[in-house]
Amino acid sequence: MDISELLNGLNDRQREAVSAPLGNYLVLAGAGSGKTRVLTYRIAWLIAVENISESSIMAVTFTNKAAAEMRHRIESTLAQYSQPNLFGMWVGTFHSIAHRLLRSHYLDAKLPQDFQILDSEDQLRLVKRLMKLHHYDEHNFPPKQACWYINHKKEEGLRPNQIEHYNDPQEKQWVRIYQIYQDVCDRSGLVDFSELLLRAYKLLESKPVILQRYQQRFQHILIDEFQDTNKIQYAWIKLLAGDSAKLMIVGDDDQSIYGWRGAKVENIHHFLQDFQKVKKIILEQNYRSTENILQSANQLIANNEKRLGKNLWTAGEKGEPVEIYAAFNELDEALFVASQINLWLDEGGKLDDCAILYRSNRLSRVIEDALIRSNIPYRIYGGLRFFERQEIKDALAYLRLIANRQDDAAFERIVNTPLRGLGERTLDVLRTLTRERQITLWQATQLAINENMLASRAATALFRFIELINSLEQDTSEMPLFAQTDFVIKHSGLYQMYQQEKGEKGEVRIENLEELVTAAKEFVKPTDAEDMSDLTAFLTHASLEAGEEQASVHESSVQMMTLHSAKGLEFDRVFIIGMEDGIFPSFQSLEIPQQLEEERRLAYVGITRAKKKLTLCYAENRRLYAKEEKHFPSRFIAELPEANIQAVRLRGTVRRAYNRSAVSTNRLFIENELSDWKVGQKVKHAKFGTGTIINIEGSENNTRLQIAFQGQGIKWLIASLAKLEKL
Ligand code: ATP
Ligand code: MG
Repeated sequence: MDISELLNGLNDRQREAVSAPLGNYLVLAGAGSGKTRVLTYRIAWLIAVENISESSIMAVTFTNKAAAEMRHRIESTLAQYSQPNLFGMWVGTFHSIAHRLLRSHYLDAKLPQDFQILDSEDQLRLVKRLMKLHHYDEHNFPPKQACWYINHKKEEGLRPNQIEHYNDPQEKQWVRIYQIYQDVCDRSGLVDFSELLLRAYKLLESKPVILQRYQQRFQHILIDEFQDTNKIQYAWIKLLAGDSAKLMIVGDDDQSIYGWRGAKVENIHHFLQDFQKVKKIILEQNYRSTENILQSANQLIANNEKRLGKNLWTAGEKGEPVEIYAAFNELDEALFVASQINLWLDEGGKLDDCAILYRSNRLSRVIEDALIRSNIPYRIYGGLRFFERQEIKDALAYLRLIANRQDDAAFERIVNTPLRGLGERTLDVLRTLTRERQITLWQATQLAINENMLASRAATALFRFIELINSLEQDTSEMPLFAQTDFVIKHSGLYQMYQQEKGEKGEVRIENLEELVTAAKEFVKPTDAEDMSDLTAFLTHASLEAGEEQASVHESSVQMMTLHSAKGLEFDRVFIIGMEDGIFPSFQSLEIPQQLEEERRLAYVGITRAKKKLTLCYAENRRLYAKEEKHFPSRFIAELPEANIQAVRLRGTVRRAYNRSAVSTNRLFIENELSDWKVGQKVKHAKFGTGTIINIEGSENNTRLQIAFQGQGIKWLIASLAKLEKL
């Protein structure tokens, strides 16, 4: 096949970007104009045509999923010409790339070899614990705010000693908390998400030899979703690029939606100034949405003042108008969405191509109810993820302590789980020791035992705990990962503890623990983790996974997610619910013009996810926080062009006024007495094989079963449709 065919399937502008001579490029373009496509093709072009070695290429994406997809696409594009070997190419998120650097240079980064990643929940626990230890009042100094402060400062690239607090007493305290927290993390070998970036930056900055090595290696750096990079990420890229690397960045200022998390859209301007001879390429043709959808998006975003300015057009069809549905209340809204999805299915649509988007997670529950009642399978991105569940985190904490004794967060979590009769008083002695002697909890325990600082019962219990961890390590050191996981779960006492927990909950926890063994068995060490132990690689995977949305595993299901996590994705049929002032735009943003603009960009992102049909819903009454309130349609609806939108009239029906009590007596999630399904029952499914029921929701025809299939993962299925065979 002729290599120039690589350019087929691109328009002139895209082609210009993909085949441009080596240099610095900024591809600035609106939603759905092919930015991600251009980046992917560009990499293929560099390898196939410019003969660039794949190991000199680094590509940065916004999620791990997008990274996997990009690698796959490049591979299949190149496979038409040659046998690609992309082993040496680095594709990943900023976090995963920073992590990789730190693993390779842990000594220079002043980290222990087995340093562990703290996800945001771990971080909050640790901060909470430390603030208590240092007598901070939670009311005046909320731990959540402390986490926000710490992360924000790290994203700015600042260490406690670099923060000017101008003698502001409140800020002085935040800085002190940051310092206390950081000291413990450093002693324990713990790295939170923002620390990954800052550490990697400091590593490169302070070790010229290492920096030079990577500068020489990565001559081609490509970055997607550039508008959402923060200060430290930008500084990091600048440092790594040095004088000679060639960059292609793609982004859309109108889709900058992480300002609240420190993202700086100005980085686009900085890029133009800081890098040599940047050529700007603008794409304006949209390939994703119908004209009606696109015009709505264009007109909406035109209300923002600070824009780089670009207008999208499409050669595609006009399509159906954007629908606006005024629901009586949130139940009506939910039933409407469910009925529309059924219509969509009747018309030959596929569930996978359908998405429901919302401003915040709490809006999903009522919709879930309605979907279950209508037998529509769904999947929530970013719901409670497997690796975030209590029992799983307990088991992982044992594994973490085995891998690294200095891991204070893991130590805290399990020192008295299962109960070992250790009281807060004993633990406080240890915590105080950590503070006074600047040591970790593990070291403090040994010290306290050796120096007889504890009551004898407590000392014995702690001594046994230490022995337990040591022997778990010894006994499992030769085992493969899954056997090690299984052994640790069974011999730590966790298994027995959860076995004693009554009812379904305990059973589900046991099943989940078993699923963890399956997960360990299925775990394949990624190519970039060669030099890590299997255990560390697995623990890393678990932490990074907990920071990201889950992938859709259901065979076919509606996708539900927040507007933020929909970035970069596309669906034929999209619903955006809760289009009400105070919800979207959010209440906090109503009075602050800058924030309102960010909300509008979020609406722009939402609208431009739709390919064929878009429906916006709002409820005139909504119950939130157990209180019913009258709501008004989102101001964003009023900003849409009348010519492209249409109010929905329900055919032949009078507007339904829902009687709440009538609906709620019939509510779901009630105990499932009528059905003959039982948790723990083994079943067989035509496609997924054998599995065990681990959870039941709904009743009669609406019963949904959560089943752990051997080797296929955990899935939700509608009992009446799944054709399950009982075993
Ligand atoms: P977003 O801003 O939402 O991330 P994007 O600019 O990255 O969007 P892509 O996701 O790359 O856009 O492309 C949008 C859709 O248009 C995809 O389905 C893509 O395959 C398709 N597409 C892009 N360019 C072309 C083209 N030249 N011909 C046909 N389809 C195209
Ligand atoms: Mg994209």
